[in-house]
Amino acid sequence: MTDDDASFPVRVLRKWHEAEGVVGLELVAFDGGKLPAFMAGGSLELTLPGGIARSYSIANAPTERHRYLLAVLREPASLGGSAAVHERLREGDVLPARGPWDDFPLAAGAVHSLLLAGGIGITPLVAMAHQLYRQGAPFTLHYAARGVHAAAFAAQLRAAPYAHRVCWHFSHRGVGERLDFTAALARVPWLSHVYACGPTAFVAQAVEAARRCGWPEERLHIEAFGTR
Ligand SMILES: Cc1cc2nc3c(=O)[nH]c(=O)nc-3n(C[C@H](O)[C@H](O)[C@H](O)COP(=O)(O)OP(=O)(O)OC[C@H]3O[C@@H](n4cnc5c(N)ncnc54)[C@H](O)[C@@H]3O)c2cc1C
Repeated sequence: MTDDDASFPVRVLRKWHEAEGVVGLELVAFDGGKLPAFMAGGSLELTLPGGIARSYSIANAPTERHRYLLAVLREPASLGGSAAVHERLREGDVLPARGPWDDFPLAAGAVHSLLLAGGIGITPLVAMAHQLYRQGAPFTLHYAARGVHAAAFAAQLRAAPYAHRVCWHFSHRGVGERLDFTAALARVPWLSHVYACGPTAFVAQAVEAARRCGWPEERLHIEAFGTR
């Protein structure tokens, strides 16, 4: 982790279409060296073309020190950040970055981790899934998206050695496959840690279900990405 105020330059090595409305970014150090270390669930602040600063979760494995992988959803009513990423940012651009911050960390030694991703909220949870798998720690990842076409990192998750731990919930296919938060909580051991990330409304539903089940606050971890 770096000093909160220190900014460092990163270069956009690759930018690609990751899913409908989502671009992927691979950022590397401007000098080609190692980047500041991060933990699974960590995030970075980028100052984008036009001068606006926005936070993004880092999706790759924390063992990788040569790059940060991000996925950025185009907010339809964006006032700057995601519009700048989608429309103005180019491969080769150099941006000031701050962080990474360890603001959504995994709890050590959990008996089980339940990861609940809503849409673009998958980004920190992919890094967590990777880390938990590497540690041999039990986990389940529920990924709710409109459809596979709109699900960032779908190909990566389907090819992952932990693919059998991923439960997909595509809302466009009908009610049967929607994520039932209460049912997901009921299927994991009571001492599990729960991590929910996504749009504000998704995270609020996860919190409401956990509280209804009497889930202790210290085993409930959330990160909300926006206003909706
Ligand atoms: C720790 C953290 C990690 C994040 N990680 C990711 C990530 O991995 N990927 C990702 O895509 N995003 C991520 N985000 C969200 C990201 O930082 C931006 O907030 C998001 O992309 C929207 O930025 P924007 O500038 O495009 O939209 P903004 O212009 O900030 O608008 C965001 C939304 O707010 C609404 N809005 C804005 N102003 C008003 C207003 N005055 N009245 C009513 N509504 C308003 C807009 O309609 C829009 O829907 C993360 C956020 C945090 C805090």
